[in-house]
Amino acid sequence: MCADSCPTGAIGFQFDKEGFWYPEIRKDKCINCGKCVNVCPQNKQSSGNMKKPAVYSAWIKDDKIRMNSSSGGVFYALAKNIIMQGGYVVGCQYGNNCKSVYHSIAHTVDDLEKFIGSKYLQSDTRRIYKKVKRLLDLNKLVLFCGTPCQVAALYEFLPHTYSKLVTMDFFCMGVNSPKSFWAYVTEQERIHNSDVRYIHMRNKKQGWQNFGIYMEFKNGKTFQANKDEDFWLKGFLEYNLYIRPSCYQCKYRKIPRIADISVGDFWGIRTVSRQNLFKGVSAVLINSEKGKDVFENIQEQLKCKSYDLQEVLKGNSALEKPPAYFEQREKFFDLLYRVPFSKAVRKCGTKQNNRTEEWRKSIENFINELPYMVMGGGSKVRNPHKMYKGRKMVR
Ligand SMILES: Cc1cc2nc3c(=O)[nH]c(=O)nc-3n(C[C@H](O)[C@H](O)[C@H](O)COP(=O)(O)OP(=O)(O)OC[C@H]3O[C@@H](n4cnc5c(N)ncnc54)[C@H](O)[C@@H]3O)c2cc1C
Repeated sequence: MCADSCPTGAIGFQFDKEGFWYPEIRKDKCINCGKCVNVCPQNKQSSGNMKKPAVYSAWIKDDKIRMNSSSGGVFYALAKNIIMQGGYVVGCQYGNNCKSVYHSIAHTVDDLEKFIGSKYLQSDTRRIYKKVKRLLDLNKLVLFCGTPCQVAALYEFLPHTYSKLVTMDFFCMGVNSPKSFWAYVTEQERIHNSDVRYIHMRNKKQGWQNFGIYMEFKNGKTFQANKDEDFWLKGFLEYNLYIRPSCYQCKYRKIPRIADISVGDFWGIRTVSRQNLFKGVSAVLINSEKGKDVFENIQEQLKCKSYDLQEVLKGNSALEKPPAYFEQREKFFDLLYRVPFSKAVRKCGTKQNNRTEEWRKSIENFINELPYMVMGGGSKVRNPHKMYKGRKMVR
């Protein structure tokens, strides 16, 4: 956004070792106007949106869209509504070789497909802020969807508020390194002996909760794996190995949120059927009056139920806590230059990973729940971990 705001085009970008881009000022072009510093959302207070957003569980009634979407497909329902009113939707799509992602604009319902589904790496937003401003200056209706910090950047870029701008962000644990993703896809291409032609990073073939990835290659081969099998998914879901360093100190994740509407996965929701847990459920936060209006407009397309915010917070730490820093991160990026991606993750995702504690507890709970224990000689005894009160067990 700072590059888009520079009046002399003096700001370019350089990649660091981890493959993240950072602004670099060309001294010969810079006129020291200070605009880039003044518009930077990092130097600003957060928004005045609702401190207690209205909270819903929701999913789109169209099953095909729901199965392709990351959670319940609320993004698509809103985006389609905006397009039907002659508006424009700004979202994130894959680049030509599926190894990078960037923000672009859609103006037809067919064109919306490219935005469906989360791409868990940093999206290139160069020039998008200028394009959004141009549309708004022409009095067009625009829905902008991105990470909370991208939405904050848009508001700072615009010179004043526009009644025809609607913003949607998502609960965000952080964006991953574009270089890591490039290395991951390149390794998959080598294994399958072909270029990739399609990637779906939240594939639901094994269900919403199983978090899967699916790829198609130009030679017709396919690849599918879930979060416990795939090294890309393990690297960021278990170890936070390649999240952008600034995401560890993110100030945009909290409530009050900056966007009009925030969406995320309703992890831990209990009151829905197994079938709905398989297809995916969104958690929706309505953060402003405008958010309330646009959400009301799409009720026909959705199944919604009102919830308490605590229910969402219970299952989703992305709204409160930043991701934990994983000690092996530096070693990972050193290795990435020397060995295939999967080997780098394998060598760094050691036993000290975040799951060990969780795993130990679940085994402990399992043992505690057993009514009997089998002893060395094969004899059965009552489980000493269980307490008995009279003849009734107390858990
Ligand atoms: C990097 C990232 C981290 C996330 N972390 C969490 C989390 O910790 N907890 C949680 O509950 N939900 C998280 N989400 C959100 C979740 O994955 C779903 O996107 C969200 O629930 C909306 O789902 P949906 O079914 O409505 O729509 P979807 O079809 O999934 O919506 C996709 C929308 O997200 C946009 N988008 C996709 N990838 C990117 C990207 N890289 N950068 C910017 N915009 C993008 C698309 O343009 C589109 O507008 C994250 C999403 C991303 C992209």
